Amino acid sequence: MTSNILQIKGTQINYYFICKTKLWLFSHHIQMEQESELVSLGKILHKDSYKRDKKDRTIDNLISFDFVRKGETLEIHEVKKSKKMSKAHHYQLLYYLYYLKNEKGINDAVGIIDYPKIRRRETLKLDERNEKEIKNIIKRIGNILSDEMPTPQKVPACLKCAYYEFALSDMRRFK
Ligand code: SF4
Repeated sequence: MTSNILQIKGTQINYYFICKTKLWLFSHHIQMEQESELVSLGKILHKDSYKRDKKDRTIDNLISFDFVRKGETLEIHEVKKSKKMSKAHHYQLLYYLYYLKNEKGINDAVGIIDYPKIRRRETLKLDERNEKEIKNIIKRIGNILSDEMPTPQKVPACLKCAYYEFALSDMRRFK
């Protein structure tokens, strides 16, 4: 049971770093992600790469990680194709740790981002500094969502974005 304090999805934290328009569209239930070939590719990638682990853990319909490993500490894993969006990946996973701590009382979970294609791995822990950052991001997301849709700006992610046609349909909004 959530405390109703956190109602932000991990995907929204991710989109906050990729594109504020995308964040706004997704959050207002204009969802086209199922049409994106890239998203499907990501799903296939992690299915093939980590067959032995428990996958697709969703909690409270808000956070959803690729798989968990339980040892001395709880490891939350996310599998990503490349490091192109690494900042978004980083904060999305930190948000999961923040959520587990503040909503579930799990204080010692560790976040791991796996990049199987480049055989890299990043380990993240929640600390005072990044917890404060997550709080600020949540606040800023709230401000964005309570306002009008942010004007689309061309960003590198546009070409692979499921909202591309939608955003292009109003070219006047691009600067
Ligand atoms: S197409 Fe570009 S501007 Fe439009 S929502 Fe996607 S990333 Fe944002």
